[in-house]
Amino acid sequence: MRVTAIIAAGGRGHRLGAAEPKQLLAVAGRAILERSVSTFLLHPSVDEVVVALPQELVENPPAYLRADEAAGARHAKPLRVVAGGARRQDSVANAFRAAASTSDVIVIHDAARPFASADLIARTIAAAAESGAALAAVQARDTVKQGRGQFVGATLPRDTIFLAQTPQAFRRSVLADALALADDVTDEAALAERAGHPVQIVEGEASNIKITTAEDLPIAEAIAKFSDRKTLPARTGRAGTGYDLHRLVAGRPLVLGGVTIPSDVGALGHSDADVVCHAVTDAILGAVGQGDIGRHFPDSDPRWKDASSVDLLARAVEMIAELGFEVGNVDVTVVLEKPKIRDHVESMRTILARVLKIDLARVSIKGKTNEGVDAVGRGEAIAAHAIALIRAR
Ligand code: MG
Repeated sequence: MRVTAIIAAGGRGHRLGAAEPKQLLAVAGRAILERSVSTFLLHPSVDEVVVALPQELVENPPAYLRADEAAGARHAKPLRVVAGGARRQDSVANAFRAAASTSDVIVIHDAARPFASADLIARTIAAAAESGAALAAVQARDTVKQGRGQFVGATLPRDTIFLAQTPQAFRRSVLADALALADDVTDEAALAERAGHPVQIVEGEASNIKITTAEDLPIAEAIAKFSDRKTLPARTGRAGTGYDLHRLVAGRPLVLGGVTIPSDVGALGHSDADVVCHAVTDAILGAVGQGDIGRHFPDSDPRWKDASSVDLLARAVEMIAELGFEVGNVDVTVVLEKPKIRDHVESMRTILARVLKIDLARVSIKGKTNEGVDAVGRGEAIAAHAIALIRAR
């Protein structure tokens, strides 16, 4: 199943009274929009992200949305920016047109809700895949009165009242039906309902607030600090391990830690098959719970076919930096029968230190043989083990 995320950031947020659009305001050090976009860019169920922005921002997008080399280096999945429309649903329609035609499910999210959890996004996508349409909503906690002028007209049964949030997700055909309606609405689920599609309710989150007025900002600050503390590593850091093995064959270069080492045989594989970089990349991604190198840089994707593994490692470092992490140290063991790597270790460490943006003293690389045992011992393969410590920046 392929999933496109649409971030609706087309509004200017006048109710907040700030000079700049509210989605660019920082909450606990990061822009609201950056927080929302990065949640989806890093979400394992999402394949691409389309952001609908006010026209003036499309012409001059913030750095974290720029589709130039800087952003390309940061994101392993496509990120597109489109101009929003007059109404929210027009913005969503513009973004929908820019979505990949192969997407099965479209998940729509308000930029002004930067605290939706990855779990909520996953549950909403799964419900939409099953039912056709789904939205996050929380049950009313307060007693709900229907007003008649200045008086209470009726007391509504609270257990039937749900307050809609985003994400809202739709199978492609359902969203197409919904957006074909011209009615003025405040969310896409309302259009899907009117188009006759059942919309499943997924239990939302109280912390998934919509930042609408200046009064919301201190609340958002508090939620940000709490949720950042949950996702960021403790002062002691977080560790990840990585392991990689490649076959050794004649006629291939032997690239380790970005250094080409004189050898009769080299590692077989896509890209340069650099086991040191691959193991370190996996260790770094593992430490922050972001899967592995294959998930972010699949070798089935032509973009990564001839990519240098040093570049992929640099992208992983950028990716964790976006999450607020940096590398503390790495330790690598290369298991290789021959040649000896001893004379090349310093060059490898120098390259890794530069890519990881840490002191040379924090990069350790050790060589070992497998004592003639197994395929590695017979010289048929090379393996590398890595551990990385990651900490908050
Ligand atoms: Mg590999």
